[in-house]
Amino acid sequence: MASRAATATAAVIRSFNAEFISFGYTGAIGPYHWGSLSPDYYACSTGKLQSPINIIKDNAIWNPKLEPLTRYYNSANGTLVDSGFNIQLRYDDSVGGLIIEGKNYTLKQMHWHTPSEHTIDGIRYPVELHLVHMSKDGDIAVVAILYNLGHPDPFLDQLKNPFKELTKEVCSGDEEAHVPVGLVETKSIKRNTRKYFRYMGSLTTPPCTENVTWSILGKVRELSMDQLVELRAPLELDYKNNSRPTQPLNGRHVYLFDEKYPNNLFGSGASSNNNNSGDDNDDNDDRSVP
Ligand SMILES: [Zn+2]
Repeated sequence: MASRAATATAAVIRSFNAEFISFGYTGAIGPYHWGSLSPDYYACSTGKLQSPINIIKDNAIWNPKLEPLTRYYNSANGTLVDSGFNIQLRYDDSVGGLIIEGKNYTLKQMHWHTPSEHTIDGIRYPVELHLVHMSKDGDIAVVAILYNLGHPDPFLDQLKNPFKELTKEVCSGDEEAHVPVGLVETKSIKRNTRKYFRYMGSLTTPPCTENVTWSILGKVRELSMDQLVELRAPLELDYKNNSRPTQPLNGRHVYLFDEKYPNNLFGSGASSNNNNSGDDNDDNDDRSVP
């Protein structure tokens, strides 16, 4: 099992390396060819549990066994890295992680995709953030947050200068462009989540490793146009659009955790939530942790 954990670690924490740059998002090295680029990438074409997917809200199955998404991130030192195919913020283990079904997963890195990889009812969003976690025995859990354009995102706000520095380093031809960020405040990414979608999938980049536990938050957040430009700036032109097309479900179910669903189900009309906006409840899914 040690080797499996080691393989998963290598997939999750990749350093800048030419062999990993041999895949892309267009042409002969694009997503439809990933499976044939390397024997290590077979799962990209033959796997049956691939990500991302289109989530159809009406088909998501409310699962009373799902628990609130317990995240216990601490502020920790991070390093912003240009992996070539996306920009990652890597952490040391002191950042903490999350618990799923009693199992601990440590946050290893987060990175951004533009536009989003997962779609909701066919809608693709401008940005998707992936928080990549791994357990001691090599299991991977990813939390995905979708973003619309709007107000600035407070989490990205603190990375404004590091993103600029990283862009400068890349432009100066530094092969291993990375910028130590210092202490990263994680408060804004661990807000409690009232609603999320859960399914079993894969990494969305080669080697497309499967049995990844996905949690896609129901709340769509916002970032500003300036921030969108900033987070794409360090990437080469061919990697500025770095989202893999959606993959077939192949009979998989998407489960729904929704704090308020039991009320609705039994028609108590309790409406203990404060959603009175009249829309489809997605605007009030998060609440701040006290
Ligand atoms: Zn990703």
